Amino acid sequence: MRKQLIVLFFWISIFDLTLAQSPIIPAPVVFIEQEGINEIGNLISLNPENLPEEIKEYFIDKLINVFGIQVVVNSNSKKIVFKKLVNTPPDYYTINITDNILITYSSQASCFYAVNSLLQLIQGEKDAYYFNQCYIQDYPKFAWRGLHLDVSRHFYSVDEVKRFIDLMAMYKFNTFHWHLTDDQGWRIEIKKYPKLTEIGAWRDSTVNDHYTTKPRTYTVEKYGGFYTQEQIKDVVEYAQNRFVTIVPEIEMPGHSRAALAAYPYYSCTGKQLEVPGLWGVFDEVFCAKEESIDFLKDILAEVLELFPSPYIHIGGDEAPKTRWKTCPRCQKVIRENGLKDEHELQSFFIREIDEFLTSKGRKLIGWDEILEGGLSPNAAVMSWRGFEGGIEAAKQEHYVVMTPGSHCYFDHYQSSNPNEPLAIGGFTPLEKVYDFNPIPEGFTEQQALYVLGGQANLWTEYIPDMKKLEYMTYPRALALSQALWCTSKPPFEDFKKSFVDYQLKYMNRYDVNFSKAFFYPKMELNQKLEGVTIHFKSGEPNYHFDLFVKSDEIHPALSGGQVIGEKDSLYFERTTGSKVVNYSFKVSSEFTTESSVYNFTVHPALELPIELKSKPSEKYSGSGSSTLVDGIIGCKPWKGNEWLGFQEQEIEFVVDLKKYSKIDSLEIGFLEDEGSWIHYPNFIRFSVSKKGKKWKYLKDSDLKLNSNEAKKGKTLPFSTIINNKGRYVKVLITTFDAIPQGIPGEGNIPWTFMDELIIFFK
Ligand SMILES: [Zn+2]
Repeated sequence: MRKQLIVLFFWISIFDLTLAQSPIIPAPVVFIEQEGINEIGNLISLNPENLPEEIKEYFIDKLINVFGIQVVVNSNSKKIVFKKLVNTPPDYYTINITDNILITYSSQASCFYAVNSLLQLIQGEKDAYYFNQCYIQDYPKFAWRGLHLDVSRHFYSVDEVKRFIDLMAMYKFNTFHWHLTDDQGWRIEIKKYPKLTEIGAWRDSTVNDHYTTKPRTYTVEKYGGFYTQEQIKDVVEYAQNRFVTIVPEIEMPGHSRAALAAYPYYSCTGKQLEVPGLWGVFDEVFCAKEESIDFLKDILAEVLELFPSPYIHIGGDEAPKTRWKTCPRCQKVIRENGLKDEHELQSFFIREIDEFLTSKGRKLIGWDEILEGGLSPNAAVMSWRGFEGGIEAAKQEHYVVMTPGSHCYFDHYQSSNPNEPLAIGGFTPLEKVYDFNPIPEGFTEQQALYVLGGQANLWTEYIPDMKKLEYMTYPRALALSQALWCTSKPPFEDFKKSFVDYQLKYMNRYDVNFSKAFFYPKMELNQKLEGVTIHFKSGEPNYHFDLFVKSDEIHPALSGGQVIGEKDSLYFERTTGSKVVNYSFKVSSEFTTESSVYNFTVHPALELPIELKSKPSEKYSGSGSSTLVDGIIGCKPWKGNEWLGFQEQEIEFVVDLKKYSKIDSLEIGFLEDEGSWIHYPNFIRFSVSKKGKKWKYLKDSDLKLNSNEAKKGKTLPFSTIINNKGRYVKVLITTFDAIPQGIPGEGNIPWTFMDELIIFFK
């Protein structure tokens, strides 16, 4: 290592070059541009010495089939030469492109990484390909750079899974977490238990739309599929050739409805249930009796034969204890083993499996719920409900993989663009993924050693096919690759430039259906004395345009406004409401060929200062208090950033009307989404004040939960008459104590989502 650093400084001092921005993603540790071009034309001659066979095949395949470049393999060629290094850090490589190309590497994996970097460096077209001369020195930061794919909710064929792996390998991901079993389908052939795939791999129906949509409808059609053991071996080998380790996941004790539909004996009740076509969490789980644990060990024994991965994922998440509480067999296990409760029973269950895997020379990894009731001695933790589980596990000196929902759930929305296709919920835009750091703040160096790396998860309830899978994965996976690879992550602006200038084209070569959401203009509002300026900002460099609405449209005269757009692609429509003005804009641009409609509402409370006495959750903090008065009204399906989300029993805020006013009435919107633990609040208390010191209590309002809007499962625009004078309005919102029994998240404080706040005052 020291030697390389000296070489690096030598380079820099001799040529007096600053580190240039790399076209490669993830960005290498060192990238130095050099004068000159290395021309390829449409023919490359390759010296096969020191180039491992499978990497040579991969390289040649990409050159020919992706670029149309012919390859001559010639042992005397000096055009591209490989050298194996000893005494270097793991997975270290360099590329030096002058008139010839020299690649040095420390491991076969790093030789593969070098080849992928080189492929990304090819510039030009057809018969006129070339390299810009440069020097690269590179190695990864984290050992676990993962992508996960759920093939249970929707099934992906062998070819599709291979393509998923091929694409991730291009961006130096090295771990593919294959979520093979879940409630809605068992996808791996187990010879000892054939019914797992005969029955468990098929469901009779699939829920339509978002599963919280009411009334719920289904597509009644047999759906499913599975991989034979031969197919799995083939995929494992395909991944190995790309230096990707496949970590298989067999879910237990929860998310097991498909397995239990095939073998009901291993549940607590023994009742025959179908493979569900509905998403969510089900009470039916594996019984903790010995026979069920043995059944799972038998399954794992076959799984271990297929997957050489050191880690085996056993799920462990979202396992309700309802059945265990009333099951005589489970209660017997609790008594006989001196366990305190059902959480300790889950811990006992996982420990049994841990011992089994350890005896076979493997390591157990599970979702962070495996911490509850005590962590099994050899277990590693995959932290998904935020960073907390990972922090706790690392403090207990267990290995962790960070995959917090806030940054790593690629089934979330990636933009608030109205055209964004249906997603499960949540909001994880490109910038948020880019911000991800698997090492939590405040970790000591010692604790950081337990963080193996990070991973993004692709749950496929709302991802039915390959096209949408790529849309949800890319370009967010590029941002993640940077977060996991780069020793010193470049600024987001640099990433954006590499993405726009180079990677767009590169992904197009592979026909990746990446999302262009990042380029869709984002609407921002600025209130000025003379009116309201709506500014559209896009991820596309140099793109923006402004729209101006004259102030006489805001209060209360509704005619005679003028709109100035800077580009022809802007269209403007106006509809007039009784008290507010709703605008919709159609916007399109070079990268975003389909136009999209933006809705914006001008109302008297726009951009009023609000002091939030209660803090919204970091995940759903939008742009802070201004989210409530930004003219963009939260709707359903919700995309996170239009709403302010709180998980507090009491939420209090104060609005400053900026002058002593006659306040007529007030409206607030609320969201209900049972599956995401979001409920309407209980009641709201209003007070007004002249100076913000002494408060005049006005009234408490019950929320009319039976309103028509609420019945339709939409949003609840709550409104109340104020009819009082003051400059400040204080609002105190109180939720129910806890989510009632039998509803997802029971016992927890319900979430409250608010938007938009409209006050009518003069
Ligand atoms: Zn039981």
